Amino acid sequence: MVIKNLTVEFPGHGNPIRAVDRVDLEIKKGERVVLVGETGSGKSVLLLSLLRLLPASARTTGEVLYKGKNLLRMSEDELCRIRGQELAYIPQGTGSALNPVLTVGIQVAEPLMVHLGFKKGPALEKAVSLLGQLGIPEARKRAFEYPHQYSGGMKQRALVAMGVVAEPEILLADEPTKGVDWEKREEILNLFQSLTGKTILTVTHDLWFAEKFAQKVAVMYAAQIVEVAPQVEFFRQPLHPYAQALLAALPSRGLQPLAGYAPEHSRYHEPGCRFRKRCSRAFHRCQEEPPLFEHNGRWVRCWLCAG
Ligand code: SF4
Repeated sequence: MVIKNLTVEFPGHGNPIRAVDRVDLEIKKGERVVLVGETGSGKSVLLLSLLRLLPASARTTGEVLYKGKNLLRMSEDELCRIRGQELAYIPQGTGSALNPVLTVGIQVAEPLMVHLGFKKGPALEKAVSLLGQLGIPEARKRAFEYPHQYSGGMKQRALVAMGVVAEPEILLADEPTKGVDWEKREEILNLFQSLTGKTILTVTHDLWFAEKFAQKVAVMYAAQIVEVAPQVEFFRQPLHPYAQALLAALPSRGLQPLAGYAPEHSRYHEPGCRFRKRCSRAFHRCQEEPPLFEHNGRWVRCWLCAG
């Protein structure tokens, strides 16, 4: 999947609110890409925009190329065929994402019936088998239970099962570890790591998860991508001052909190680097907006990395 110049705007009082701003990102076949950033940076909106799951009021421009076709311009019928079968979405949270009046097994089986023409019996059989593989104990019995009978960790597994049951080519997962305790985070990481060979784009604020799971890390700040780098290099030496500050705030790296706040959406149109008010290395050139510079095979939106 290749994302080119993707911008998402919502109507606001006066100027539109730009939640995603000219994003370029490539997710190669079989690659695990993790997009990190603070709450409100635009990463979840970006993920939803790829599958056109945003409210009708959102205005999305740019290109999302999948097998050479732009998902943003595809007919609804064509997109419906692809969604759930070739591209699957695993939503954030475990509470409201499952239908409370349907058994978990039927919900996991549904993509097989809708997209691949399975009859109910074989679809349920496959759902049971997958739930078992993903660590649901007594899967044959539990498949006929309702979401409220599942623990938080089991609901997360059920959501992953729904996402992968039709063997999609690309999985898009929104904040898989949000709101879960330490023990469950390990479980979810193991679950995602077990999806070997899949092409996965995950958005998260959880740098621990990103370090353990990603092959490539992209960082989003104030609606823009500010750094893209291979996982090992990123965690060894982040280049963008915001990425450096994110890592420095980790307990394992000194717990130095980043002062200040990201700019309001209404200030995005102001000239200059959006991080400059919080950046200890800002200089005169930062009054101008930096583009994404290629720097030793990485991409960095900072004048310090200009050739
Ligand atoms: S462009 Fe300037 S303000 Fe922005 S991150 Fe780089 S040094 Fe800091």
